[in-house]
Amino acid sequence: MSETTLVNPADETVIGTVAHTSLEEVDAAVERAVRAQRDWAALAPADRGRALRRFAAAVDAHVDELALLEVRNSGHPIGQARWEAGHVRDVLEYYSGAPERLIGQQIPVAGGIDVTFHEPLGVIGVIVPWNFPMTIASWGFAPALAAGNAVLLKPADWTPLTAIRLGELALESGLPDGLFQVLPGRGSVVGERFVTHEKVRKIVFTGSTEVGKRVMAGCSAQVKPVTLELGGKSANIVFADADLEAAAAGAPGSVFDNAGQDCCARSRLLVERSVLDRFLELLEPAVRAFRVGDPLDESVEMGPLVSREHHVSVSSFLDDGARVAFRGSAPDGPGFWFAPTVLLPERADRVATEEIFGPVVSVLPFDDEADAIALANDSIYGLSGSIWTRDLGRGIRVARAVDSGNLSVNSHSSVRYATPFGGFKQSGLGRELGPDAPLAFTETKNVFFSHA
Ligand code: NAP
Repeated sequence: MSETTLVNPADETVIGTVAHTSLEEVDAAVERAVRAQRDWAALAPADRGRALRRFAAAVDAHVDELALLEVRNSGHPIGQARWEAGHVRDVLEYYSGAPERLIGQQIPVAGGIDVTFHEPLGVIGVIVPWNFPMTIASWGFAPALAAGNAVLLKPADWTPLTAIRLGELALESGLPDGLFQVLPGRGSVVGERFVTHEKVRKIVFTGSTEVGKRVMAGCSAQVKPVTLELGGKSANIVFADADLEAAAAGAPGSVFDNAGQDCCARSRLLVERSVLDRFLELLEPAVRAFRVGDPLDESVEMGPLVSREHHVSVSSFLDDGARVAFRGSAPDGPGFWFAPTVLLPERADRVATEEIFGPVVSVLPFDDEADAIALANDSIYGLSGSIWTRDLGRGIRVARAVDSGNLSVNSHSSVRYATPFGGFKQSGLGRELGPDAPLAFTETKNVFFSHA
């Protein structure tokens, strides 16, 4: 039986092993999920809502435990990890109202009554990455369960611990056996089996654009619906008329949070040329003051990178003569530490175009509004972004012109469970969160009742 050895990224100590789910075990889990889903979908909507609220209460009672698990397994700062566990509770509570609100339509037609129903799809396969193991999982499983489906969740190989604990809490809270199963293991085994198994009726995949394309291609064989949340290289656009102090104070958090391992990281910092020098003067102390260290320290803002392998990958971007403007600090000694780094590359440089997924930001000057929009859109990605200006009209124009799914003006808003989230272009397909998310886990059925 194969297994993964888990390492604490902050000190490189071994924290345990997790056995991989085999192909046969995945198939058995699918059969159990099929049975559980039938009973779940037949429950009264209010009872499904109550069950999800009990699951939310169980998560709430274990926020500290889940947060500590995430600190050890993923290196997230404790304050952030607590927020993540609380967010899972909030997502469950938000969608616990959905079973009673999956409202169809009554459409005027001749000769009878025409109504639509939102039927559950069946068994949903949710595949998640290692950067936000709990929160991203909940964006899939909570609305899917609310819409009457069963869920199989594959956590990332490096970070399965909080997902496994959430699976236990679901059972302890009374969710039926088999309805929500967590299956740790390799993407090439468990993830691919979700894609090829005929009884898994939809895939929600969050991860790299490269693997997402393969998942989408695999799903086409069965015309299986797929939601994709993929990579990003988002722009933080600072105009000369902006509150430069506020923009500079916010910029480090917008890209260095979670050590830059954030699909929404504003890793391209576009600054109007006329204020570039002043902006860099303001940015430097903010970057140097960004607190990097022991994730268990409540005051720490950034922990280590997730693994040695990922540290090698992030470091490789600085190998080929990248022009470093300045860097923050990081601890020495064991742990996968990487100091926050500000670069001044050319527009076509690899660091300015590829997703690094680490605490590295590329500052790129622009000439005017048209140039800023063109530069922001000169990317295969379109996930997130920010616009800093005191000109309301410009804020509106640029927000409408940037090809991105999630933008904020004069702030770096993070993801909110009540608003839709997802990417343009190669950042993804479909939307998660917001009021409509449960509909993405249903088929619309139209029924005509003749009164002849
Ligand atoms: P990844 O390598 O694509 O892996 C993501 C998940 O897919 C993991 O669970 C992985 O399993 C699994 N997987 C690997 N190969 C597979 C296959 N052939 N079939 C099915 N599943 C497979 O991505 P990552 O490195 O974990 O995550 C970083 C990426 O995720 C970044 O590009 C980031 O931008 C993106 N991301 C996007 C969003 C968003 O909402 N748009 C959010 C977070 C992250 P293993 O762990 O076993 O390899």
